[in-house]
Amino acid sequence: MIIQKVGAKKIKDSRGDFTIEISVQTDFGKFSSSAPNGKSKGKYEAKSYKNNLEGDIEKIKELSEYFSTDVLEKFDDLRRIEDVVKGHVGANTLFALESCALKAMAKEQKKEIWEIINPNSKKIPRLVGNCIGGGLHSTTDGTKPDFQEFLLIPPVGAKAGFELNKKIKKELEFLIKKKDKKFSSKKNDEDAWITSLGDKEVLEILSSFKIDFGIDIASSSFHKRKKYYYSNPKLERTADEQLFYLLNLLRNFNIRYIEDPFEEEDFKAFASLLEKFPDRLIVGDDLTVTNSKRLQKAIDMKSINALIVKPNQCGSLMEVKRVVELAKANKIKMIFSHRSGETSENILADLAVGFEADFIKCGITGPEREAKIKRLIEIEKNIKD
Ligand code: PEP
Ligand code: MG
Repeated sequence: MIIQKVGAKKIKDSRGDFTIEISVQTDFGKFSSSAPNGKSKGKYEAKSYKNNLEGDIEKIKELSEYFSTDVLEKFDDLRRIEDVVKGHVGANTLFALESCALKAMAKEQKKEIWEIINPNSKKIPRLVGNCIGGGLHSTTDGTKPDFQEFLLIPPVGAKAGFELNKKIKKELEFLIKKKDKKFSSKKNDEDAWITSLGDKEVLEILSSFKIDFGIDIASSSFHKRKKYYYSNPKLERTADEQLFYLLNLLRNFNIRYIEDPFEEEDFKAFASLLEKFPDRLIVGDDLTVTNSKRLQKAIDMKSINALIVKPNQCGSLMEVKRVVELAKANKIKMIFSHRSGETSENILADLAVGFEADFIKCGITGPEREAKIKRLIEIEKNIKD
């Protein structure tokens, strides 16, 4: 497959913010792909655009003619694309461009996208679905949970998992209403319920279900000057107090999964938590930002046993592959993840299957989230048949 021409334009994501959509004309047809946008971004993420979205759109059009000398046949050929655009565009642009190339390769070879990555994969990741949200993803006039996401983790099986998550999310609406007089069935950026309840009250509600659940604390978003600033209830915690608090939460609630429990610099605090609770998933997101160097540091310091993989945190799918190989070699579980601002792009499901992810975090409801889950269900059906 040869890329003959590249086009780019801006489109709106689920939050109404602009993001990039790339299209490539190949000798096998035209393929397009878009990138999502994060809001609670890690400090060490790659920049979404070199300078800005408009600049990347112009740049990629300028570079369009330089791709046509390369024949792209296998995943590692994406390196050729990276050689052309490296240093000229940001992570959102590169990710969307490489996604187009994978789609074109798959079409040419009459394969599924995940098969271009690994034709032998048989692994369907478990769903991780955000059902109640706080933090930066939920806008309210009053109180809200400080933790960013409360996550349902149904047993393996995309189709059954999707149905279970939707059912529980519906039941939660009634349960929250009973406890939260201010609840108005509003939903946040990721289509999760917005409540005025505090973290512990939400955990109590979730504990009444016979399902694994987890939390994304996204703690960098409320950490400054060496303290964690909680607002519901209002109090400050030092790093030691944060550790003590979380150890108690893990003891008192059967939280299977805890993402970014400490701010993005504190590899040591992560390690203290993992040492005490090696049987829970201690997950790095802002800590590791899909970056192999930061993952290596987290491995060396025994900070995590699981990590978030968000392809547009680094942009480069070659870097995603390095991160995946490092994670697998060190028995670190992988959660491929959407962003809070999403598009209807569904390639995340193919990437998760191709790279043999253990989990996929892509919400529960809303068209942009469901697009990925439905694609996963389709892959699950094909793999089974
Ligand atoms: C997250 O922190 O896991 C997340 C999805 O946030 P965002 O996309 O807003 O950075
Ligand atoms: Mg996170």
